[in-house]
Amino acid sequence: MSIYYTITTLGCKVNQSESESLAASLKSRGMSEAGSATADVCIINTCTVTQKASMQSRQAIRRSIRLNPQARIIVTGCYAQMQPEQIRRIDKVDDIIGHRAKMRIPDLIKTEVANEDTSAALELPFCNIEALPADFSRTRPVLKIQDGCNTFCTYCIVPYARGRSRSMPVKDVSDAVNAVHSSGKREIVLAGIHLGCYGQELTPSTSLVELLNYVLSDTSIERIRLSSIEPAELTSDIITLASESERLCSHFHIPLQSGDDSILERMHRPYTRSMFSSLIRQIHAVMPDAAIGADILAGFPGETEAAFENTFTLVEELPISYLHVFPFSARKGTPAYTFPDKVADNVIKARCRRLRELGKRKKNEFYQKFIHQKIEILVESQRDRRTGLLKGFTSNYIPVLVQAGDELKNKLVMVRIERVDADGIVFGRIL
Ligand code: SF4
Repeated sequence: MSIYYTITTLGCKVNQSESESLAASLKSRGMSEAGSATADVCIINTCTVTQKASMQSRQAIRRSIRLNPQARIIVTGCYAQMQPEQIRRIDKVDDIIGHRAKMRIPDLIKTEVANEDTSAALELPFCNIEALPADFSRTRPVLKIQDGCNTFCTYCIVPYARGRSRSMPVKDVSDAVNAVHSSGKREIVLAGIHLGCYGQELTPSTSLVELLNYVLSDTSIERIRLSSIEPAELTSDIITLASESERLCSHFHIPLQSGDDSILERMHRPYTRSMFSSLIRQIHAVMPDAAIGADILAGFPGETEAAFENTFTLVEELPISYLHVFPFSARKGTPAYTFPDKVADNVIKARCRRLRELGKRKKNEFYQKFIHQKIEILVESQRDRRTGLLKGFTSNYIPVLVQAGDELKNKLVMVRIERVDADGIVFGRIL
């Protein structure tokens, strides 16, 4: 009798990639996605990057228990790694699995596991795809090529949860990209916790740009997109390669966090406001149409009004196309947890609101630039829920809605951008 499973994923692209791998591995062992059937096993792949993420992880666990009262409940991911005792308090959780054993969950399902030891996160191995997904659910699958981080920014729990930086070997990355391409996909997203550190610990050591050159020559997948990359590691070589390659997407997502030098220093971020500014201008000079996204952390301890304005004006003046805004969340175990000069919650909320409005305006301005232009989109396999239209992404990450039949799903097609509505929704016409 087949075992039916559900996987609920919270958090970052790396978690998404690991969930895809888990799903593939479960399927290769004869298990099936539950869909509308009752699940026998529920896996919740959690996140703990902020207090809110931990809370949402607990909600997701409770929801799975409520909807599947007979199922075996397996909790994994960063929250399981960092706070197993909090999860243990939730009645009916069967297993808590840290990162070390995450990819062994498919084997563990038929055995008694209960609570795995989640200590010693810093020495974790690179755990990745042991069975490459043969039927990716996403139009643009995410491949984790790097895990962990050695930087220890003072607010961040991730290095404690995911351990030191480690990378997937170059040839394995290339083979995985070829496998994704052979399965009919046109785009792959290369993701890491600290992507710019890719390859540094491999023997012989290598770098992200060397990897990209290798993958571009060894594969013929139409699009390669990079997930978030740190400002100090987005080198001129990578920018030049992206500007010259048709296949490397003109899209960079760069965590800024703050535009104030004293806050950056307190955060232990290895760059300054002016370095960030030069980087964005350098990208824009050679790739004026590139999407440049930025993460901002609002309300870090000691962030005065003046420091916040430094962030706000920097973002406002730079050619940044969209923002991801996060409120500061004190994570126990990180240095910033005990920093003085905490910013009041209502002030943090107001700063987030202002930044989000700014981000919306910048995104709208970016999209407007492309009205009447011809541009290629990769059509997603899911229709837009609100309009029922097909949706596709351009290389520079503009979601475009088009009226078309299902035969265009997963195809690269040319469209003309016709309009951007008041909510920032972009509409195009197939050419
Ligand atoms: S670079 Fe900083 S923010 Fe990013 S994962 Fe590492 S410690 Fe966290």
